[in-house]
Amino acid sequence: MSEHETVLRADAMLTPGGVVTDAELAFDGSGRITYVGPARPDAESASDRVVHELGGHVLMPGLVNGHTHSAMTLLRGVSDDEGFMPWLAAVQALEQHLTHDDVEVGLQLAMVEMIETGTTTFADMYHWDAQLIELVRAAGMRALVALASFAPDAVGFPGVSPWNGAEATDQTEALAEQFAGDAQVRIAYGPHAPYTCPPEFLRDIARRAIERGIPIHTHISESAAEVAQIQERYGATPADHLDSLGLFEADVLAAHCVHLTEGEIALFARTGTAVSHNPVSNLKLGNGIAPLPEWQAAGLRISLGTDSVASNNTLDLFEEIKTGTILHRGARQDAAIVRAADVLDIATRRGAEAVGFPETGALEVGRLADVIALDVTGSSAVPFEAASLISHLGFAATGADVRHVFIGGRHVYAEGEHLTLDADEIRLRAAAARARLTAANAAAAATAH
Ligand SMILES: [Zn+2]
Repeated sequence: MSEHETVLRADAMLTPGGVVTDAELAFDGSGRITYVGPARPDAESASDRVVHELGGHVLMPGLVNGHTHSAMTLLRGVSDDEGFMPWLAAVQALEQHLTHDDVEVGLQLAMVEMIETGTTTFADMYHWDAQLIELVRAAGMRALVALASFAPDAVGFPGVSPWNGAEATDQTEALAEQFAGDAQVRIAYGPHAPYTCPPEFLRDIARRAIERGIPIHTHISESAAEVAQIQERYGATPADHLDSLGLFEADVLAAHCVHLTEGEIALFARTGTAVSHNPVSNLKLGNGIAPLPEWQAAGLRISLGTDSVASNNTLDLFEEIKTGTILHRGARQDAAIVRAADVLDIATRRGAEAVGFPETGALEVGRLADVIALDVTGSSAVPFEAASLISHLGFAATGADVRHVFIGGRHVYAEGEHLTLDADEIRLRAAAARARLTAANAAAAATAH
């Protein structure tokens, strides 16, 4: 990266100190923010500066997707109107036919969509290996990646993964070593959930996670059916069951957590366990409404996530921000219970901290420049008042407004064009992969009958 300073000037900017109007942000050649504040009159005078004049745009930190399964973009729109367990069965039937090529293109399609809707960092659970991680690095994104595993002898993706669950655990540790200290990629264990993973398997992962300082990314209390199953099998709630296996002595990121009890929320607060709020997926699958106001009151570490496209059906976090803000207002009949400013903070600064990239997530001097620019000249932004930036970002903006994305100072999306991914080719390959999966699944079903 060159040594020059890059300057972005825009109509307004969201910072931890509030909204700055007639704003300027600068970062150095290493991608670190060097200036945040009102536009400086002398910015273009220095010859070693690249200045982007972004009139009609606003700046905010890149969004952080706290829980997804990227490659499942290929399963967009599968089983849209069924409940959680039948949906899972339909998804898993198609996943039996996935190849490594499919996972590659599914991941790339996800990165295309994430970048163009303003996401710069994501926490993922799926099949992962060094080759797939290199695709993330090449795209310029940041990711916390977890190898999904189910049991020591279980293979989640038979056509993709050469490993069973025990080998995936070993592989997680090898990847953690290989990518140690990488600014873009962190590795996590990915035991799928307490209802799919046997207790001994979870206990072993917990012990290894604590020993090696590797985080765990899992699903907890996503559906009422799961809570009933765990209660019946182990005589405990899901989080209490996992606590008895020592899981929360490790650094855990728990997705969904729709049905947490007061005691479980207190447990998460005590152990510093991070949660991921996935309001759209929880609504779409009919799983319920996670108690965000109670999480907030307990001071939990919180991120915002889309979950996979198979249960959403997009990766546009602006939809999640708006839904996450208004959902609890309707459910509790209290418009003051969740503020857009707080959800924007969860989608950026707090999310970045929860998924392990604390140097990103906010536009402030010293942090890494993960920054996006949104056009505010479109009909849904007008009349735009710079001072009301939070209102715009919280309730009116969508991913389609994003025009520029910088990650660690690297320009990955400019004027609506991808600079690191061949989006047209990826979309074509993804459509072909889906057609093949559907055909393979239909052929398998015909043979079974
Ligand atoms: Zn999930």
